[in-house]
Amino acid sequence: MRILVTGGAGYIGSHVVKALGEQGHELLVYDNLSTGHDWAVLYGKLVVGELEDSRLLNDAFQSFRPEAVLHFAASIQVEESVREPLRYYRNNVANTLNLLNAMDRHGVRNLIYSSTASVYGIPEKMPVVESMPLNPINPYGASKVMVEAVLRDIVQAKDFRYIALRYFNVAGADSRTRIGQAYSDATHLITRALKTAHGEFPKLSIFGTDYPTADGTCIRDYIHVDDLADAHIRALNYLTETGKTEIMNCGYGHGFSVKEVVTVAKKVTGIDFTVLETDRRAGDPPELIADSTKLRQLTGWQPRHDDLEFIIKTAWDWELKYKSNLAKK
Ligand code: UDP
Repeated sequence: MRILVTGGAGYIGSHVVKALGEQGHELLVYDNLSTGHDWAVLYGKLVVGELEDSRLLNDAFQSFRPEAVLHFAASIQVEESVREPLRYYRNNVANTLNLLNAMDRHGVRNLIYSSTASVYGIPEKMPVVESMPLNPINPYGASKVMVEAVLRDIVQAKDFRYIALRYFNVAGADSRTRIGQAYSDATHLITRALKTAHGEFPKLSIFGTDYPTADGTCIRDYIHVDDLADAHIRALNYLTETGKTEIMNCGYGHGFSVKEVVTVAKKVTGIDFTVLETDRRAGDPPELIADSTKLRQLTGWQPRHDDLEFIIKTAWDWELKYKSNLAKK
């Protein structure tokens, strides 16, 4: 199939491009390289451009004639979204509208949309099922809820279908260390812990130890990026085979506390890095665990890397390789 992948040079997008490429799909990656890298695109062709640039986007649709679109390009940092809401709504909502317009104009009816567990805000019950209320507590989550609403309306009006995948905490890297997370300002726990082990930061802060959890720190459902990539392949097959619109959570269905992650990160790296317990970070729900029954039942998805040590080991191998490559430059 010919598939246009926005944000395909970024962390999650590049792992999905790898998986799609391995299956022989024809790919066009459309990415502005704001956080992505050209070297991360292992398959297909890369067009460097903005989603704002309607002319370039239309040219891409016209010449490539995609049968489906996977839309990863977005701004994804919660704290930044609180400081710069306009930028988030412009990039995540307005630019997505531009993409949807191009799809409409060129008759492309299949979309896989990257959504997030942040749409749920602070859920009342665990694990989270897709039908639970959407109460985002920051502009990042709100921007994803807005696009989900737009998509719902398009399905009512047009011959169009989509699958929104709501990601929980994505981590890890390609086990052959060809690609992995490569942002200059990583804020996520596993990446921060590994960069601290590597000496890039003097210490790791644990944000809050007074949550209503067993050890007082927040619990998250960490999913290996290659399992998430496989979920995209299966979702796309489901979409094109059935033509049915769906929303599916992507996670393993169980979680680890911040302290548990720190313990495993120290074990995997063999480095006893400095950890400091600090105040809570604003807007962190105590627990986020996916009910991924829908993804499993509808698409046949089965996790292959449901092992925190493996997840952290692949992320660590990648971190070491990425840093040594940077040092050589
Ligand atoms: N966290 C932490 N120290 C850090 C980064 C994150 O204690 O340096 C905590 C954060 O407060 C949350 C959990 O780790 O409880 C996961 O945060 P992350 O930013 O990785 O993902 P989120 O769940 O916010 O999307």
